[in-house]
Amino acid sequence: WLTPQQSASNETTTGAAETIYRGWLMTTNDDFSISSASTITYADGLRHNLKEGWYEFKCNCEVQDSEEHSETRPLADWLGELAHDRRQPVAYVAAIRAYLASPQGGNLPRRLLKTSPLETFAQAVANLYARMVAGDTAIDILQEMKNKEGAFGSHGFATPCQSLADCPVSPRELSLQTPLHYRPHHTIPSHSHLMTTQNRVSAADMWSVVVSEVASVETIDLHTHLLPPTHGPLCLWGIDELLTYHYLVAEYFMTAPASVTPPEFYNLPKPKQAEMIWQALFVDRSPISEACRGVVTTLVAFGLQEQVRRRDLSGIRAFYKSYQDRGTEGAAEFSDLVFSTSGVQYNIMTNIPFNSTEAQYWRGPNKTDYDSKHFKSAVRVDPLLAGDRETVEFALKSAGYDVTLEGARQYLRDWCDTMKPEYVMASTPHDFVVPSDEALPKPSKINTAALAEPGAFATVAKSQNAMESSCDGTQDDLPSVINEHSDFLSQVLMQVCEERDLPLALKIGAHRAVNPELKTAGDGVVAFADMSVLSRLCSRFPKVRFLATFLSRNNQHEACVLASKFRNLHIYGCWWFCNNPSMIQEITTMRVEMLGTAFTCQHSDARVMDQLVYKWSHSRCIIAQVLSAEYEKLAVSGWQPSRHEIRRDVARLFGRSYKEFMD
Ligand SMILES: [Zn+2]
Repeated sequence: WLTPQQSASNETTTGAAETIYRGWLMTTNDDFSISSASTITYADGLRHNLKEGWYEFKCNCEVQDSEEHSETRPLADWLGELAHDRRQPVAYVAAIRAYLASPQGGNLPRRLLKTSPLETFAQAVANLYARMVAGDTAIDILQEMKNKEGAFGSHGFATPCQSLADCPVSPRELSLQTPLHYRPHHTIPSHSHLMTTQNRVSAADMWSVVVSEVASVETIDLHTHLLPPTHGPLCLWGIDELLTYHYLVAEYFMTAPASVTPPEFYNLPKPKQAEMIWQALFVDRSPISEACRGVVTTLVAFGLQEQVRRRDLSGIRAFYKSYQDRGTEGAAEFSDLVFSTSGVQYNIMTNIPFNSTEAQYWRGPNKTDYDSKHFKSAVRVDPLLAGDRETVEFALKSAGYDVTLEGARQYLRDWCDTMKPEYVMASTPHDFVVPSDEALPKPSKINTAALAEPGAFATVAKSQNAMESSCDGTQDDLPSVINEHSDFLSQVLMQVCEERDLPLALKIGAHRAVNPELKTAGDGVVAFADMSVLSRLCSRFPKVRFLATFLSRNNQHEACVLASKFRNLHIYGCWWFCNNPSMIQEITTMRVEMLGTAFTCQHSDARVMDQLVYKWSHSRCIIAQVLSAEYEKLAVSGWQPSRHEIRRDVARLFGRSYKEFMD
């Protein structure tokens, strides 16, 4: 009855105008090898033939095939038509809904069908139905339930419909920018026959498959500023950290009365800062900016919609307090919650050995084991890239290394041994200038006292303020300053990268501190960066792999061109001012058009652990939209991707391309 066909013979014993349908038995030939070859006729005239594997049945269920028209049609005709093409689950939802509404079917009022539990129920049934039509037998599916596999993982036979609804947002919401939250299991297991169907698919099928696959892919977050819970105060999380994120601070100062000056603001305790921002951006105004909406998405994902509805900051704080009260253990539990909610397999931190506050967690008596399943390391090596001789020499001396190029290499090797980084990375403090060919850069206002501390390398701070800010965990996140003519670059950094087979991550963008008073929140010029440096590095050091992201929208196109020319260049994510829905959409579309799947679609750049939740759910939604549009174009040209192929491509964009690049 799954794939009814009108029977070749319409004879009935009653002579009534009932339509007879033929169904196919789900079987292998062997099962009926001893059966009689003849057709058996029952008393009511219905027949079956086990040898040929068919049987006849009646179905008098009439359904309304659309909400607009009141005409009805036989349900079995509809299903027979649908089954002609093996389709993805979304294609069956309307028929199932119509059955539920039909007086001969579920007999439910239509208004009930619009409620989300029944919507979810229809989607879940559609999932199972589509799988069976595609060839997964009922026995196979029951086996999966029994063995608690895949989507049946946690509940087996009691699996809630929600876990089976293929497209995690209802079709009515599909075109909206809803956060697309991670779902821990694919609703269609990899071994399902539905994975290989390549039939002509409609735009709706394509969209629902891509949405479902993007929602269920576990991602690698290539670059963040997070630190593990065992790094104590350096691990940032919770509502006050969310609200004092530097994007929100910048937005706050656009609205703040002139009497509130940045230095005064930064001198206030963090909870007070958070309250001022909450009042200004969430109470006095609607939180419609991307960074504000992100806070809302995150809180709702944690189940705080009621507190959000009441604009109740203390209620929100109470939720976090239950974790905060339990110290490192609570932080670790919260961290696990964030990773499982956001679907991030692991993130790559930005570790600064040269910052003594952080270094103590890596070496010495305070060294701690950290959650290396979720947190992987990247070593930041700014002064080497910038050819900052004075700082490098000072650091080598303080740490007891020879002040030679070999000493510098050894220093870097030793830190790589300690941190075991996935790659090395460079970004630089605020007041660095791009050095000219000859002159060595002269960093200003070096805090020599800080540098004298063991392990302190170049937190070559622009000012005392910057030192403080890096100590409280707000690290600089600025474009790489590259001195191509420096020995440190060619003979230390590149040499160790080659030796250890470590990629170098670069952040490309022209930069100056636009408003130093605002500290991190005041940074950023979105100007054209000179991309020729990157192309010269790629060709001069062909054995070193480069990971690059770009601050300016204007550089994105050239970046794609470069990536297609250099095999040792991998492009990742949308950084900072480009990490907004409209920009992500534009940039990802261009990248897919130019690079296929040979790039990593996103990174979060999160500084506060909770941000993984919204940065990824917002990005997943847009990337799903971009991808489904690209697949539709492809289908129009004559290529129908199977669901399996789509799953594979999505995995590449969310981390597998990076892994392939790294291997
Ligand atoms: Zn960053």
